[in-house]
Amino acid sequence: MGFSPPPFWHDLKGFLADDEAAALAAAASRAAALGPVLEIGSYCGKSTICIALAMADSSNLLFALDHHRGSEEHQPGEFFHDPDLFDAGSDQMDSFREFRHNLDRAGISERVVPIVATSELAARHWATPLGMVFIDGGHSLDAALTDYRCWAGHLLRGGTLAIHDVYPDAAKGGQAPYAVYRLTLESGLFRELERVNSLALLERL
Ligand code: MG
Repeated sequence: MGFSPPPFWHDLKGFLADDEAAALAAAASRAAALGPVLEIGSYCGKSTICIALAMADSSNLLFALDHHRGSEEHQPGEFFHDPDLFDAGSDQMDSFREFRHNLDRAGISERVVPIVATSELAARHWATPLGMVFIDGGHSLDAALTDYRCWAGHLLRGGTLAIHDVYPDAAKGGQAPYAVYRLTLESGLFRELERVNSLALLERL
């Protein structure tokens, strides 16, 4: 798959198809030669593991940003709600415990810096140029646009912007990631490298 998935790969909670994982790994491997990588929306760490393993030959780090309170669709009563990730003590979602557990199992905890915060808060003092940004956070238009506006500007020239859940057909999925994808192309600052399933890969010109 472009990286060596751990034996428990298919048991991990998450929404990354195998063909998308292979393309994401190849992109991360290339981008890690340029600079650190930042992913937005780590959830239980499936894509985090994919990217970190693909970056194994690089000394660059992976920053894994997620408030771990779940996106809109993960909340109780919503379609993607997972009761295993609900912390009754605090009466809210908490995917951080599962995320950390999975990183430990994959042996990548020393190469990943978790940032437990909202995208906007984490970006406020950010000044590190990035080799790749992977947008896979909230799917409301507001959340997706915030992720783009907060982070795309930190990409190095030649760096990669990856966007997950890009569905041109509204019958197949929500339209916010697709709207961000269109905005990215229309900005003139990016060119498309590849589309694999719902993963879009773009290069910062
Ligand atoms: Mg996704």
